[in-house]
Amino acid sequence: AELRELLLAHIRDVPDYPEPGVVFKDITPLLADAKAFGALVDALAALCVERGATKVVGLEARGFILAAPAAARAGLGFVPVRKAGKLPGDTHGQAYQLEYGTAEIEVHADAFDPDDRVLVIDDVLATGGTAEASLELVRRTGAALAGVAVLMELTFLGGRERLVPALGNAPLDAL
Ligand code: IMP
Repeated sequence: AELRELLLAHIRDVPDYPEPGVVFKDITPLLADAKAFGALVDALAALCVERGATKVVGLEARGFILAAPAAARAGLGFVPVRKAGKLPGDTHGQAYQLEYGTAEIEVHADAFDPDDRVLVIDDVLATGGTAEASLELVRRTGAALAGVAVLMELTFLGGRERLVPALGNAPLDAL
């Protein structure tokens, strides 16, 4: 509860961004605060251990900022899931629906070993489309899923419900 209050105190609401009617959750004040950022990274690192992860995925771009230090602190390797066209090696790609149009994300096909357990980290779970696509990518590599962890879940957008089939028995943690 204390962690939750500390994190919430450093997340800024930006009305009408990126378009009218949307209230954007801006995490840059949290990243800029040493105590809050440190507490967040510590909590995510603890989750990596608790969920038995052997590799940590970060979703471009804000997911990188959280997943990479958490992975290092937990003693685990980091794997980027990137927007299409950014990874140099052989990749798996997954397209998903945006409000207007589609997007595609990719992961290196050899990023995981078959016995890896992957924890996926992002900053904000909104509709769940991005996380769902990332879970499909992990599935296609053949690695097991340890779970999904996000800083913040926008519950009114139903992302958690959308993720249920892709999660199976793996947990979704929102700090
Ligand atoms: P979803 O695919 O609709 O769940 O959107 C999640 C993705 O969009 C994540 O990668 C987030 O970084 C980003 N996102 C959506 N809404 C917000 C927000 O209010 N603040 C920060 N990032 C957001």
